[in-house]
Amino acid sequence: MELDEFRAGVDDWLAQNRDELAPGHRGAGSLDEQVAQLAKVKRLAFDAGWMRWGWPERVGGLGGSTLPRAYLGEALTAADLVEPGIYSMTEVLAPTMIGYAAPELAAAMVPRLLRGDETWCQGFSEPGTGSNLAALSCRAVRVDRAWRVSGQKVWTSLAQYAQRCVLLVRTGAPDSAHRGITALFADMDSPGITVRPIETVHGAPEFCEVFFDDVAVPLDRTLGEEGQGWSVAMDLLPFERSTALWHRGAHLQHRLGQLLERAPAGSLDPVALGETVQLLATLRARSRATQHRMAAGERLGPETSIDKVLLATAEQALFDLAEGALAEEVLLGDDVTSARWRSEFLYSRAATIYGGTAEIQRNIIARRLLDLGDDR
Ligand SMILES: Cc1cc2nc3c(=O)[nH]c(=O)nc-3n(C[C@H](O)[C@H](O)[C@H](O)COP(=O)(O)OP(=O)(O)OC[C@H]3O[C@@H](n4cnc5c(N)ncnc54)[C@H](O)[C@@H]3O)c2cc1C
Repeated sequence: MELDEFRAGVDDWLAQNRDELAPGHRGAGSLDEQVAQLAKVKRLAFDAGWMRWGWPERVGGLGGSTLPRAYLGEALTAADLVEPGIYSMTEVLAPTMIGYAAPELAAAMVPRLLRGDETWCQGFSEPGTGSNLAALSCRAVRVDRAWRVSGQKVWTSLAQYAQRCVLLVRTGAPDSAHRGITALFADMDSPGITVRPIETVHGAPEFCEVFFDDVAVPLDRTLGEEGQGWSVAMDLLPFERSTALWHRGAHLQHRLGQLLERAPAGSLDPVALGETVQLLATLRARSRATQHRMAAGERLGPETSIDKVLLATAEQALFDLAEGALAEEVLLGDDVTSARWRSEFLYSRAATIYGGTAEIQRNIIARRLLDLGDDR
């Protein structure tokens, strides 16, 4: 299907199904409400076909260009039907399964994620091992037909809701660095997994500690080959910075529009407003180009770090602007609209951390794009 036809079809579908798609909660809603709303919208969009375009037919998709995926998330986000952060997990984890899982496993599992029947999480970071991912120590040893996993993950978004986890484990010697890492696809209801949600500063337990105590993961749940986990991770990370960022950019544009409507006359700092508009436009132009490169079949890589730096900068500029113009609401307001501005202002601090910190992105840009030498 051509993009124009897809856009018109989605817009029409959104208008005709407004009531059924609308969230049952007011304002941003609790995390429980957001997760339930996301599952509902994905199910309706999948059953209507829209969620299937841009994904391969062998995993329940309808094929075609990836551009419709960018538009669908943009339209859902701009209509305040889904929270872009949790919607983004699909764009991050489904391509990894398609690229690295055994074909039968991908065919069985990916439709569940696309349709919102399941939530998945990403178990990469560990205490002391975030930026320095190659030093991870959660260990897996082979016993008969399974891996036995023991160790801890942290900052695992949505783990308390997840049925599955894309998990990085050490299968080589403790000092094998990136060479000794393997990627697994674990069931979160496996005996031996304990999930402890962590309350964040913006008031929602978005991420968790996850403990593995001799957890069995069948060998056929290995993603790629044993020892190939670093490649899995390096291929996954650019997806955190491509379509997912397009959706987030659309959300920021939408929130800028709402800020302009809401801010009292004279309350917006004109210089900060100009800078925010410019940063958002730059982000969206860059991210648009990334969507087109992906649609043309280009392999995404370190250049997506530029998109991530732009996103984090634009997001923080926007919510700093909002905090200045709506200071009383953001700091003290207890209605749902104020609570949402406050929550998003606080969450925007995380934009320079999740998906690789701003410093790490700049290291990647310096080393791998500008050839300015090692970061150490
Ligand atoms: C909202 C949110 C959601 C997240 N969700 C997930 C998830 O679902 N799954 C998951 O696995 N992880 C997740 N994370 C974790 C995230 O990937 C890590 O927080 C991030 O990679 C940074 O790692 P760290 O917290 O260990 O900090 P560190 O790596 O310890 O970094 C601390 C500080 O040191 C700086 N630094 C570190 N190394 C260098 C260097 N070489 N050069 C210059 N500066 C350096 C960093 O930039 C940072 O400022 C999430 C984080 C957030 C905030």
